[in-house]
Amino acid sequence: MYLGAIEAGGTKFVCAVGSGDGTVHERTTFPTTTPQETMRHVVDFFSRYELKAIGIGSFGPIDLNKNSATYGHITSTPKPHWANFDFVGEISKHFHVPIGFDTDVNAAALGERLWGAARGTDNCIYMTVGTGIGVGAIVEGRLLHGLLHPEMGHILVRRHPDDAFAGSCPFHGDCLEGMASGPAIEKRWGKKGAELAAQKEVWSLEAFYLGQAIAHYILILSPEKVVAGGGVMKQPQLLPDVRHHVRQFLNGYVQHEAILHHIDDYIVLPGLGDNAGICGALALAKQALGE
Ligand code: ADP
Ligand code: ZN
Repeated sequence: MYLGAIEAGGTKFVCAVGSGDGTVHERTTFPTTTPQETMRHVVDFFSRYELKAIGIGSFGPIDLNKNSATYGHITSTPKPHWANFDFVGEISKHFHVPIGFDTDVNAAALGERLWGAARGTDNCIYMTVGTGIGVGAIVEGRLLHGLLHPEMGHILVRRHPDDAFAGSCPFHGDCLEGMASGPAIEKRWGKKGAELAAQKEVWSLEAFYLGQAIAHYILILSPEKVVAGGGVMKQPQLLPDVRHHVRQFLNGYVQHEAILHHIDDYIVLPGLGDNAGICGALALAKQALGE
């Protein structure tokens, strides 16, 4: 018997079956179209297995309040056809097993803590810098949910004095996501991030914003490990510069050797690499089974 995992993204879905040790046995990927068509692919894939539980790490916003009438729904997304979609309800029609449901970044945080770079910590964050910016947090051993779920990608940041870019967030303009997501980079510089690899100023500005944000997360949540993934973090020159800016913003105030002397082991890439999302969904399935 396997655990089922769904990494539900705005552009693609990944489904996998795996084991409680984080091993993925088989996986499939398909584009996110309408809920009806996409769910048909999901059900077809999982129908070939006997499952113990299913974990779903989903794009949002989503309703995670188990006492709410719309628990398990995708709520107010601008993505056509998906607003108010009852994700957990649809899956549980076909599979009568425990279902774990959380945000994509919370799932990845859980996966990184169980099997990846944040193993052994009770407080850690997983940040993705891609089409959007999102952060999942584990606090004292539990995923942080609160009112809805944290939306740490939309914090307000101090603008770099040389940066005149208006920002690309439809809600806030120059919030972190509006200044530093993949689409923000593309809009500011007129080319995709991958094509700007040789342009140093692109990445030092990017590191200025990401470093500032991570300094905030450190001040507020006191994580023992910071894991940063997503497409934009694939730029190899970025992470060292992010660490540098984190130290500059904190300016010696947080007196811990992890930051003062071992920051290369403190702010790191995902231990699970590109599997952070799907392994995270597997971790949600494992957690659902445990409950
Ligand atoms: P998503 O966020 O949609 O799940 P990704 O994490 O792959 O997917 O993020 C996609 C974004 O990351 C795009 O804006 C893309 O331009 C950017 N990106 C992908 N690869 C790179 C790279 N090697 N360098 C810089 N930016 C990249
Ligand atoms: Zn925003």
